[in-house]
Order: sequence, then structure tokens, then C-alpha cells
Amino acid sequence: MKETFELIATAAAGLEAVVGREVRELGYECQVENGRVRFWGDKKAIVETNIWLRAADRIKIVVGQFPARTFEELFQGVFALDWENYLPLCCKFPISKAKCVKSKLHNEPSVQAISKKAVVKKLQKHFSRPEGVPLQEVGAEYKIEVSILKDVATVLIDTTGSSLFKRGYRVEKGGAPIKENMAAAILLLSNWCPDKPLIDPTCGSGTFCIEAAMLARQIAPGLKRSFAFEEWNWMEDELTAQVRKEAQAKIRTDLKLDISGFDIDGRMIEMAKKNAFAAGVDQDITFKQMRLQDLRTDKVNGVIISNPPYGERLLDDDAIIQLYGEMGQTFAPLKTWSKFILTSDEQFESLCGQLADKKRKLYNGTLKVDLYQFFGQRMKRQRDAPKQTE
Ligand code: SAH
Repeated sequence: MKETFELIATAAAGLEAVVGREVRELGYECQVENGRVRFWGDKKAIVETNIWLRAADRIKIVVGQFPARTFEELFQGVFALDWENYLPLCCKFPISKAKCVKSKLHNEPSVQAISKKAVVKKLQKHFSRPEGVPLQEVGAEYKIEVSILKDVATVLIDTTGSSLFKRGYRVEKGGAPIKENMAAAILLLSNWCPDKPLIDPTCGSGTFCIEAAMLARQIAPGLKRSFAFEEWNWMEDELTAQVRKEAQAKIRTDLKLDISGFDIDGRMIEMAKKNAFAAGVDQDITFKQMRLQDLRTDKVNGVIISNPPYGERLLDDDAIIQLYGEMGQTFAPLKTWSKFILTSDEQFESLCGQLADKKRKLYNGTLKVDLYQFFGQRMKRQRDAPKQTE
């Protein structure tokens, strides 16, 4: 089996650079591309990136890349890959996904079927099995994906299983939760650091607050879940156990955090509390039922992150217009606070009455959204200010 791998961490459009930064922080040089970050690493890299990346979707192994303008080229290309280094004799290896973009080959089911045949034939040859007898597909699963872009096929194996945004702490979710990895990415993009107060005034199921507490405490997002690679016989259990143990030891218990989540809906607050408890950060967050319009604070230099209801999603339009206007009024006195608002409503700036310092286009699932960023004025904190003499 292999020792070094070409890997990609997939990322939502607009978040590739954030994932790239995370990959580098783990010590892996990488290349940031559209929708993905490419890097090279060993088995430990597979474990570490799955357990530690907060903003990525999945980690995949690149088995190979080759031109595929015809089905024959596709078959030969897939057949030529070193499948014996990844797939043991008894395993499931579905071609779970085929995607063709701007390519001569465009019939995705056929791409799937031909690729499958080529893998089967290669394994039969390698393990000296008769061609007529189908391979027994039992045991661990290796999901194979074939994507053909501009006549070049990339063949991948998914190491992650269910997407990395599923951390395993979400007991319940509200009507329109933000994905955990998107929330983490926005926190990584914001200028929040653990010694600043953080408020999510429309917290819903609590995702931003929980991700913030986990980030501050250095709780690895994948610590409590399992991954597809854990079933594979050539990924040593001890290695995964060791990375988990190291991650456990990194958790900071010495921090005092100031994170609050508010929501108009009391049921959401109950849900957020349950989720925070499951994530092990309930002590770090104050959840309270409150209207955004009632938000007041004397604290300075904080960060507000909010994913308010947006058109068609939760409230009807008049209510949205009014809410966004009230957001502007409520936030206006908080001059030293930075605000990061995620909404699909392109009128947000005019409705809240303030132009953003920066805007970033993102996708919440398939919905185009903007992250409106308003940077707080810098101000010395009370404890930094010179003492008054009497
Ligand atoms: N990011 C959240 C989802 C937010 S959905 C998550 O991950 O779960 C928007 C939330 O805003 C809803 O929970 C809704 O109850 C809340 N909301 C709507 N109007 C509000 C108001 N005026 N004040 C506070 N919260 C409000």
C-alpha cells in the first residue's frame, strides 16, 4: 500500500483560501484551486486533515489524472491506475459519483459504468481472479469518484464519509441552520479572537457560537466523529488513535470566553443549549431568548456575527425590511464592534442604512449569499487605558 498521497481538501466556492490556510497551518504545503486545495501527505495527513480542518468539506485521494476524450481512453486510463495499492481483494468500491463538465464525454452513468468495469478488470488481473466471475464486494467501502473537466479525468477516493460539516454535535437543527464548516470559515475570516466578546443575535441552533468556542478552545472539529478511512485495513487504527490523543491534549481549558447567542424563538435557544452541551462547550456560551432589537452592551471591541432570516427563507418580505432596518439602528451605537452579516438579500446595505467595508460572495448550499463585513473602530480597552490619578 502507498505511503505518500496526492490529496485534495474540497471547499465551498469562496472558501478555498481559508481551507488553504488551515492546511498550511497543519504543516502541509498546498495549492489553492477552484473548489479544492491540493496537497501531498502521508497517512497521518489523511487523519490530521479529516480531524482538524474546520472549513473543508471532504478529504479525497487523487488516484490519477489523465486525458479521457473517448470511452476507450477512459477505460484504459482507469485500468492503468494502481488500484492494487488502495483496494484490498474484498471491499466495496462503488463509483459513487461521476461528473462531466465541458467535455466530450458527458453521459455520466456511462462514465460510471465504464470506470467500474476498468477497476474490476484491474483487480481481477492483479489478484489473479477469473474474468468471468464477479468480485465479491463485501467489507470496507472505498467510494470512487470520477470527474471529467475539459476532457481530463480525475479519479478520486473519498476518505471522509459523511461530509466534514457533520461534526457530530448537532442534536437538533432549526429551520435554516448554517453548515458548521461555513460558520467556522466565517469565524476564521473575521477578526475575532478568543479575548474579544462575540455575539450572535440571531443564533438559531447556535452554530456560530459553538464553532467559536471550539475554535478558541482548540477542540478539533472531527474529534467526536468517525471517517470512512477508519474502516480501511491499511490505515492503522493506532495512528488515528494517536492523532485523536494529540488533539485531546491540545484542548485549552484555561480560557474564559465571552460568547453569547440570542434568538427571538425560545425553542431555538433550548436547541442551541443542547447542541452546545453535546459539543462540550455549554459552559462557554450564554444563550438567552431575546429580540435582536433589544441588544445593548457597554462592552467594546467585540464581534457580532449574524445569519439573519432572509427573503423566502424564514420571514415574509415586510418583516425582513423592518428587521434589517432595526439591525442597522441596534448596531449603530456599537461603534467599536465589528459586524459580519450573512444574507442572500442584495438590499441589505440599503435596508440597514450602512455600506459594508467589505463584501464576500459565498454559497450557503446552492444559495448565493454575501458576507457583509463592517469593521469596528479601534479603541483602547478599559484595562489598557492609563489609570486616572485622583
Ligand atoms: N445560524 C443559525 C440559523 C439562523 S436562522 C443556525 O445555524 O441555526 C435565523 C434566526 O433568526 C432564526 O432562528 C429566528 O428565530 C431568528 N430571528 C428572527 N427574527 C429575530 C429577531 N427579531 N431577533 C432575534 N432573532 C430573530
